[in-house]
Amino acid sequence: MKRTCPHCGAPVQPRSRYCSACGRALGAPPAPLTEADPPPEVALSNIRRIRVEGDTLSLRELVNVVESGVRWWQSRLEDADAVTRAQAAQAIRELSQILASLSEQIARGRETMRITTRLPALRRYAVACPVCGRGNREGARFCQGCGAALGGGQPAAPAELERPMVLRLSMAARTDTGQVRRNNEDSVYAGELLLPTGSKLGLALVADGMGGARAGEHASRIAAEVMRAHLQHELDGKRPPDDATWERLLREAVRAANRTVYEQARADTARRGMGTTLTVALFAGDRVHIASVGDSRAYLLNAGGVTRDGATSAQLTSDHSLVARLVDIGQITPEEARTHPQRNILYRTIGTDPTVEVDTRSDPLEPGDVILLCSDGLFNHVTDEEMARIVLETPDAEQACARLVALANERGGSDNISVVVARVDA
Ligand code: CA
Repeated sequence: MKRTCPHCGAPVQPRSRYCSACGRALGAPPAPLTEADPPPEVALSNIRRIRVEGDTLSLRELVNVVESGVRWWQSRLEDADAVTRAQAAQAIRELSQILASLSEQIARGRETMRITTRLPALRRYAVACPVCGRGNREGARFCQGCGAALGGGQPAAPAELERPMVLRLSMAARTDTGQVRRNNEDSVYAGELLLPTGSKLGLALVADGMGGARAGEHASRIAAEVMRAHLQHELDGKRPPDDATWERLLREAVRAANRTVYEQARADTARRGMGTTLTVALFAGDRVHIASVGDSRAYLLNAGGVTRDGATSAQLTSDHSLVARLVDIGQITPEEARTHPQRNILYRTIGTDPTVEVDTRSDPLEPGDVILLCSDGLFNHVTDEEMARIVLETPDAEQACARLVALANERGGSDNISVVVARVDA
């Protein structure tokens, strides 16, 4: 694209900030950024939490996030690199439009917005087995735990009744640099933790680092290592008795990771401002316990349906990103969020503040379930429906991971791509 100075008309370079003929400021370069210049991931610091109470969201809290995003990009306007300066100018323009739109709503007296999308309601286990007491899906004929008939059907053989449900876990993980970025700042883990009793737990995690100059790589690796070491150390004591205790254990481990990354970022100027997402799934017996900070996701998949309306896929985690909240209030569609230029702005991350709020949840598992964890490098290129189809038609977890990564790369691979597939069988 040809560009001329608005003051003297002299031709100027596409990304120049000042005219080389008359010396006056040219304003932001109009050239659109290409996929070859992916914007960096932005971990905002010191953001007050965004509350989602009932089905409403505070517009002022959302405005705080947008303003912090503007400030972050303003600090890049003086960067030595012209591409960074151009990205910053464009980001500020886009965020200003969002800010203007939110401000108009507030000016009209609106303090909150009604949320249009929430995490889906999962299948219910409302039918208790008369023999073993385990919950079963509505409409189930036989208990998934002991095989006993749930009213009407033939009773199971005595041997079947005594056999507790044992779930087998097969896991695979894969991470890939993608087609555009130079480094891979993601870290993944899929492995086991050993309990003092000798039994094993499955642990899966995805961390998506940010910070540039290899700091993001360091942040995600440290977070993953601290998380695993903390859990293993705590589980050397005793096994948590209930969901609440499992979730407290996960929150403490995530906070330990947060402290370590935060302290290292403060101690080392080359790593200042580094951060990472962290999404973890811990498999204990027939339950999965999940913790997340940032926008790396966990999904539950099952060919037999996972939601009350029978969908084969459900997202279990909430994205702590600006675009997720804009989707919530209907400002953009989920489809637009996947390609939105400001999709990389996160308001909750590991390592950017001394403390962090952690989302946790616990869900029952049944044979045929798959827990999938991934970074945004996968879900920005591959839809939820495609992920579910590929994973459910590929019995081998390694192959499923490889197919998902290959598809994201085929579609541009604009970011690092990470995925963990954990398959649950009887
Ligand atoms: Ca990413």
